[in-house]
Amino acid sequence: MYDSIVIGSGAAGSAMARKLAEEGNRRVLVIEKRSHIGGNCYDRKDDYGVLIHEYGPHIFHTGKEEVFQFLSKFTEWYFFGHQVVANVHGKLIPVPFNLNTLHMVYEKDKAERLEKLLISEYGEGSRIPIMELRKNDNEEVKDIADYVYENIFLHYTMKQWGQTPEEISPEVTGRVPVSISYDNRYFEDKYQGMPKEGYTPMFEKMLAHPSITVLTDTDCKEKIKFLPDKVLFEGEEFLGEVIYTGALDELFDCAYGRLPYRSLDFKFEHYKEDSFQGRSVVNYTVSEDFTRITEFKYLTGQDVSGTTIVKEYPFAYTGAKGEIPYYAILNEENRSLYKKYSDRFKNLPNVYLLGRLAEYKYYNIDAIVERALHMADDIIAGRKK
Ligand SMILES: Cc1cc2nc3c(=O)[nH]c(=O)nc-3n(C[C@H](O)[C@H](O)[C@H](O)COP(=O)(O)OP(=O)(O)OC[C@H]3O[C@@H](n4cnc5c(N)ncnc54)[C@H](O)[C@@H]3O)c2cc1C
Repeated sequence: MYDSIVIGSGAAGSAMARKLAEEGNRRVLVIEKRSHIGGNCYDRKDDYGVLIHEYGPHIFHTGKEEVFQFLSKFTEWYFFGHQVVANVHGKLIPVPFNLNTLHMVYEKDKAERLEKLLISEYGEGSRIPIMELRKNDNEEVKDIADYVYENIFLHYTMKQWGQTPEEISPEVTGRVPVSISYDNRYFEDKYQGMPKEGYTPMFEKMLAHPSITVLTDTDCKEKIKFLPDKVLFEGEEFLGEVIYTGALDELFDCAYGRLPYRSLDFKFEHYKEDSFQGRSVVNYTVSEDFTRITEFKYLTGQDVSGTTIVKEYPFAYTGAKGEIPYYAILNEENRSLYKKYSDRFKNLPNVYLLGRLAEYKYYNIDAIVERALHMADDIIAGRKK
């Protein structure tokens, strides 16, 4: 009845299913354990009519034309240049730290001198990772690095990861840049914004294809068994492609132990006032137990009375009921544990692992959509994985 099975209906699974159905002429079954589609990008209106992101604020940003064109088939866009400020002892300063921040933090003469130094060292318009700036021999540049490290990076990162920065993978550390420009935007990508009506309608349209069947509220384990040399679907061998986008440890009942993750507790609050903080995102980089406050109406452009915010409290994922694994903790030990699980698919040429959970890796939305589209191309073309 089905040519392909996609497990999970997040960005990865939805893009894969659409492409296989539309360009690969396959009949695709999408199995989703939650009661809704869209994975962690899922959004919905709360009890007050405010469009919220249930699993944390998601800002779409990309420079990948292929991804933007693909997604634009299913949505129009509300574009904006995303900006973030940090609350440092009550003062709001733009992040990433840039030349505007420099002039807010240091008195005029010093700021002007440091601006010249940064431009001559790194060039105007560049973005320098914090750890690289720290290695600079020049005392005044180090001074900036130390300010950024202490007031923007250190406490925030410790809260987020429950670790010291030295313990954190450079892949993560490298994501905290200092920008040698007056551009206050958080991302540099050409396209930044939100699907105009929200993420859920965008994914609904993506999955609305005559050859796609979506089964929600269904854990794939109820229907599929991954044996060492074959896949069973409802007890019978399934020879089509199976694309799995869920967690590998959970699929095998954590036989080798749990893959470690950071999780987040999202505390939503609604206020009758029309504005809470007057902007979309404030990071709390030196105080509070939460990492940031997001006020949704400034992200979605929604015109609504009252306002809803969310505070994010990081904690170590334990696998307890209701907890969600969000950020893979990337280190050697965890990677080799992951490999033990992924090796279970060695002799299953028709099973593909795709997505932030199945690959135990952080992906932005655009990166995972791109990966799904390219993997689908390979499958359709019959290229071996
Ligand atoms: C807090 C947070 C904020 C983020 N913000 C941004 C942002 O601003 N911009 C950006 O570009 N990216 C952001 N991301 C990244 C973004 O969330 C991911 O790129 C995206 O969710 C990856 O999609 P996915 O399909 O791989 O995974 P998911 O969205 O997690 O989808 C996986 C799906 O598989 C289902 N599933 C799992 N196991 C099973 C099973 N056994 N049976 C059936 N179904 C199953 C799950 O229920 C889920 O629906 C953020 C991530 C986090 C954690």
